[in-house]
Amino acid sequence: MSVVECPRCGKNVSNFGTKTINDRRYLFAYHGNRPCYLGSYDSYVHAERLWGIGLSNISDGDLEDMLMEIFSRLLHKVRRAKGERKERMLKELEEILEEMHKKLQDV
Ligand SMILES: [Zn+2]
Repeated sequence: MSVVECPRCGKNVSNFGTKTINDRRYLFAYHGNRPCYLGSYDSYVHAERLWGIGLSNISDGDLEDMLMEIFSRLLHKVRRAKGERKERMLKELEEILEEMHKKLQDV
């Protein structure tokens, strides 16, 4: 099995997990003694519902390949969607890309 690097700090991740703080769930990457915060678990759950993306394979592949795979699956889904659902997917995808673009500028 290939090694997954933490998207935040680049350390090798031993496990992914969630923590509940004030009724909200957050996703963490565990590696050594201090975990990295990855974001709201709800947004991942939301992504799972809307896009059908699971986190179950997250430790199986190289993150870069996974990202490209997810992106091509998203495009495929958008192409097949119709009407209001298609518009919602496009809007959401644009927001995600915009957010990623902002983050890239901070690197
Ligand atoms: Zn980390």
